[in-house]
Amino acid sequence: MGSAMTALPLVFDAPRRGKPPRHLADLTREEARAAVADLGQPAFRADQLARHYYRGTTDPAQMTDIPAAARETLREALLPELLTVVRHQTADNGRTRKTLWRLHDGALVESVLMRYPDRATVCISSQAGCGMACPFCATGQAGLTRNLSAAEIIGQAVAAAAAMADGEVAGGPGRLSNVVFMGMGEPLANYARVRATLDALLGTAPYGLGLSQRSVTVSTVGLVPAIRRLTEEGRNVTLAVSLHAPDDELRDTLVPINTRWKVGEVIEAADAYAQRTGRRYSVEYALIRDVNDQPFRADLLGRLLAGKLAHVNLIPLNPTPGSPWDASPLPAQREFVARLRAAGVATTVRDTRGQDIDGACGQLAAADRVEGVPAVALPTPAVEAPVPLGAEADQG
Ligand code: SF4
Repeated sequence: MGSAMTALPLVFDAPRRGKPPRHLADLTREEARAAVADLGQPAFRADQLARHYYRGTTDPAQMTDIPAAARETLREALLPELLTVVRHQTADNGRTRKTLWRLHDGALVESVLMRYPDRATVCISSQAGCGMACPFCATGQAGLTRNLSAAEIIGQAVAAAAAMADGEVAGGPGRLSNVVFMGMGEPLANYARVRATLDALLGTAPYGLGLSQRSVTVSTVGLVPAIRRLTEEGRNVTLAVSLHAPDDELRDTLVPINTRWKVGEVIEAADAYAQRTGRRYSVEYALIRDVNDQPFRADLLGRLLAGKLAHVNLIPLNPTPGSPWDASPLPAQREFVARLRAAGVATTVRDTRGQDIDGACGQLAAADRVEGVPAVALPTPAVEAPVPLGAEADQG
């Protein structure tokens, strides 16, 4: 670890930058109807516009249920293009597609669409950059640029749904079924916008994608007050806690937010969430060679989670050339899993989809700005994609 433990300050308040233009997806149904009325159009046109938007249509020529004269006005006022594709990269025989997006102010974020036989999952970003300063993470080392607006987050999921519907990933047309907030950023540090995004993901047509609560996963590095707030909201989405260390001594440096809220507090908040929702939470644990993969830490983690409504996802680090951070060797991974299972803790090693396209936390965007920064295969795949230990990435 040593020199790799670059100590950056934790940043909770995103820098204020020019706001993205107003977008339909930032508005409640009532606000959208009022905005349309302000444009001199009947309020129901907001519903028509929303239906088109959530189906991935922003081309006025296709909005045939809206009078031609009104289409461009409505599109300009309420459907500005917030996300521009910089590039797509595909992997896993075309079943994984990573997209780098440029936002209106030049900030870069990424999303990853992964198709499995039984579902399609998109991993989305909630912030440009991240203020949580985890030393092993490219995004964390580059710092926080800004919070995304709700429409900028929702737009990533809408684009993924449209890509699935249009058959843009291998396997023909399909349906987006899952969303995980495991791209760039700490979702709960951008709480209000993430909450609004949940409304859109779970909302039914015309103002939403109609996903089920269990197929949406919100991850957090451990912002305890925000976990409690989410618990009170009554949205039964799946919670994923990025723990990466079972003891405060290591976690204080590996996941610096731990200096605010300790392991015990994070797990207590996650337990309360599980009790309230009846839903098992997942504990994400990036296995880093000689840093957090020792047998005694497996035992500590086992004791911490035994008997709890929790499931451990072990994520072998995705090593970056030149980085001092490396993945745990296979025997160490096996030992870690065996000890957790012996403690009665459900454990899987996560599929590291897209690894051959730098499928790592913020790595794609960071690669455009920061040379040689270490990264981790943290947030790409779905939480519910268990892969047998030692299996190759492409499990489909
Ligand atoms: S690992 Fe996650 S929480 Fe930590 S700096 Fe990276 S994006 Fe932020």
